[in-house]
Amino acid sequence: MFQKKIWVVGIFWIALHLLLTLSPLLILLIQPAPSGRGFWIEFSAAFGYVGLAMMMLQFALTARFDAIAAPYGIDIVLQYHRYITQVAFALILAHPIILFFHDRQYLQALNFFATPWRAKFAIISTIALILLVVTSVWRQKLKLNYEVWRVSHGIFAVTAVGLGLAHAFGVNYYLVLPWKALLWTLLALVAFGSLIYVRLLKPWLMMQKPYRVETVVPQRGNAWTLVLRPQGHEGIRFSPGQFAWLTLDRSPYHIQQHPFSFSSNGDRTDQVALTIKAVGDFTNKIKHIQPGTKAFLDGPHGAFTPDHFSFSGLVLIANGVGVTPMFSILVTFAQRGDRRPIHLIYANASWENVAFREELEYLNKQLESLSVTHVIKKPPENWVGESGYINQDLLARHIPRDREGWRYFLCGSPRFLAEVEKALHELEVPAKYIHIEHFNLV
Ligand SMILES: Cc1cc2nc3c(=O)[nH]c(=O)nc-3n(C[C@H](O)[C@H](O)[C@H](O)COP(=O)(O)OP(=O)(O)OC[C@H]3O[C@@H](n4cnc5c(N)ncnc54)[C@H](O)[C@@H]3O)c2cc1C
Repeated sequence: MFQKKIWVVGIFWIALHLLLTLSPLLILLIQPAPSGRGFWIEFSAAFGYVGLAMMMLQFALTARFDAIAAPYGIDIVLQYHRYITQVAFALILAHPIILFFHDRQYLQALNFFATPWRAKFAIISTIALILLVVTSVWRQKLKLNYEVWRVSHGIFAVTAVGLGLAHAFGVNYYLVLPWKALLWTLLALVAFGSLIYVRLLKPWLMMQKPYRVETVVPQRGNAWTLVLRPQGHEGIRFSPGQFAWLTLDRSPYHIQQHPFSFSSNGDRTDQVALTIKAVGDFTNKIKHIQPGTKAFLDGPHGAFTPDHFSFSGLVLIANGVGVTPMFSILVTFAQRGDRRPIHLIYANASWENVAFREELEYLNKQLESLSVTHVIKKPPENWVGESGYINQDLLARHIPRDREGWRYFLCGSPRFLAEVEKALHELEVPAKYIHIEHFNLV
């Protein structure tokens, strides 16, 4: 039932997105443009308008509205945002290029100091858009710090869209049409409303529900579990496998927020836990966090959870800290008394670094329905279990022969995910039963 509903919602958002993207063109069917501009100018304007509408809708896509992200998962929404922005970029660039090819006179508009304001807006908007795309596509190659990138991304996006809109209104050709003016006002409201929601309203909502760090528990594998207790509110319930954006020791208006999967029982509201591996500036500070430190959570988010699907058994495949959502699934199902079979296949470099090793041993003894297969790259002497990497042969030995009714949840490093997904495809596991959580959104 839930699955059916989520499909309908998913299709609704896609249809609405398509409709709004094409609305600048569709509206011309209701109210044709004033005549007098030749085909090429109209053609070029169409590219500009559709590109601009696409850009404006990006604000809604990235505002972490749960209703929009729920059917697909926020990582898919952000991937889509990444690709669709590049399409919008190409359409917007096509707009002046077509004009320049059509009539060289338009090249004079590039003379920044002599050109009218509406053209100046277009030039600055295009430069901001180029910077936006370059810094996003090549962020890692440019070695741009994540927070610096995030602030600059917001500035470039607002500049590109705000001045793009100012350019369209400045040209004032189509926008004199009441339907068009109405449409662009609506799109502007969606864009800037989303911005106000994510930058002002959401942090304010988070401030109403603070948490305090109760303990910081060291884990194997250079990771720490942060246990948080709600302060003056009931806490949150989440579906195991979901995640939240964490703000620690600062206001939720601060730009620094990091996503982490919950590693605790999703049905328990009096406390939540996040297990965090030290990989960079923020995560390396977790071990020094003192009990009592203030924290805020934006969540739960994500579609990586068995709660959203029907199944008769689960295969959970993780490496390293990718085990956190799996651990949450295991403890939640154990507490619920859910006895459907679960098989965890868990890869680590060494036996010493297996996060939740003792907890998994305990769960394995308690739950008949659970089987755990450790795969250790460099196993200790006398190791009798699986070693090396998770590959097709290993999976063939461990996944159920009967493919029907089983769901596969994968979480880990990017290369690991790509290899396991490929192996599962080769083993003829239908793609619709494979769910993947990526820990690197950008
Ligand atoms: C859905 C999801 C769930 C995650 N769950 C866990 C988990 O349970 N345990 C865990 O240890 N890690 C998890 N991560 C990864 C974790 O968010 C990053 O390791 C952490 O943000 C790195 O921050 P840093 O400043 O220490 O490292 P940095 O060296 O600054 O960043 C390393 C990389 O992490 C990513 N990153 C950094 N900051 C952010 C941010 N604010 N938002 C998004 N990505 C960022 C970037 O790709 C960056 O290149 C998850 C990530 C996602 C997207």
